[in-house]
Amino acid sequence: PKMGDGLSTFLNSGIYQFENSNAVFIDPVRVMNRSYTHFRVSPSAYYPRFFESKPLAQESRVSSSNSRKRKRKEKKPHSLNDREKAAEQRHQEARPFLLKAHKCLLRATALLELMSNMRSDSESLQEGGDLVSPSVPQQSFVELGQDWHAPFHEIILDFRQYDKLNVDKGSMIMQYSEQKLHPLFNNLVLNETGDDVEAEFLSSRFVIPGKSCFYMSDLEQIHSLIPAESCCGFNLIVVDPPWENGSASQKSRYPTLPNRYFLSLPIKQLTHADGALVALWVTNREKLRGFVEKELFLAWGVMHVATFYWLKVKADGSLINDLDLFHHRPYECLLLGHCHREAMDSECLSKFKPVQHNQIIISIPGAYSRKPPIGGLLPEYFPGFKPTRCIELFAREMTSGWTSWGNEPLHFQDFKYFTRN
Ligand code: SAM
Repeated sequence: PKMGDGLSTFLNSGIYQFENSNAVFIDPVRVMNRSYTHFRVSPSAYYPRFFESKPLAQESRVSSSNSRKRKRKEKKPHSLNDREKAAEQRHQEARPFLLKAHKCLLRATALLELMSNMRSDSESLQEGGDLVSPSVPQQSFVELGQDWHAPFHEIILDFRQYDKLNVDKGSMIMQYSEQKLHPLFNNLVLNETGDDVEAEFLSSRFVIPGKSCFYMSDLEQIHSLIPAESCCGFNLIVVDPPWENGSASQKSRYPTLPNRYFLSLPIKQLTHADGALVALWVTNREKLRGFVEKELFLAWGVMHVATFYWLKVKADGSLINDLDLFHHRPYECLLLGHCHREAMDSECLSKFKPVQHNQIIISIPGAYSRKPPIGGLLPEYFPGFKPTRCIELFAREMTSGWTSWGNEPLHFQDFKYFTRN
């Protein structure tokens, strides 16, 4: 049968645009594969959760209005304080968009079919995780970076030149290999070639995508990334800070910082002379939302222009939690803003293309706190600036064409998250 246009685009790009809707479904694995030439992201390593095989009853697939009423009734005896009321109001504003987007997904039967196989659907690749050697525990870059040894650690980049002719015929013949050593911490490590490069540190191996770089450091060193000239600044700045949220499980995964630390992030100094689109991931805690809107964006010189929602679903299309569950919403917010090095007057604002409000990004979550790759959804909002210069702050992975900064930007670049082409 002829495949719908939307579906065949999705198979290539990882992005499915629902018709007449402001919602998209994305498969991060397919999106990220666009960054790699000799490797592929392993679907089974990317999706450790939400692929339970037991079929769900029909009623739990749709967020039914009955369960909503029941939840509301349960909450009645407890009267909401002002902050909870504000959070509830925000939720009620987003609710219709989220429900509509979810309906689009549930109606897209061919896509749902594909989704259920997305974890194993490796398109002629070997099963995921084939590169991992089970005896090697993953390095904790956060700990190593704090150690007095940190300045002495080096990473080996293994540049291999393949015979292109043979690659096309399906077999690869290595022509030569050149190894380069770089300090691992507080240093910009670059792969300027157009191909993936293998890297080695202690006993682990990593994949560095083509035309990408990382700077692994603590927040204190972030100023090293500020370009000497504003034309070398960034047009897209994605930030996913380690917000404190009090959950014990979060604390054990990565260190968090009190909100005031983020006030000094040099967003304006990182901004390109033509301006930047800033995309900030926030949690649903009302206190945090207030802080961002009243203090943080002001301190950064960012003007909030739109809010996107990341709606999280399981492989069967159902929401990961009831939409109305107060403390465990099945969505997170991405706040978008404009930043300019000069004061934001009407002339510089006119350079920005307006961002459409309330867009919904649907995906199946990967590992804990891992965000879907949104870069591919945003370029239309800064057509003036090309080629786009992108940076991710507090990154745990790398993307072709991007700079990744954080105290563990190689975390998801470990061989165990990839298969070889
Ligand atoms: N966006 C990432 C992803 O999709 O995987 C998740 C980022 S996570 C919310 C925040 C990151 O900030 C963690 O990797 C954490 O180790 C890092 N971090 C915490 N404290 C830091 C510090 N002082 N300096 C630099 N990075 C820090």
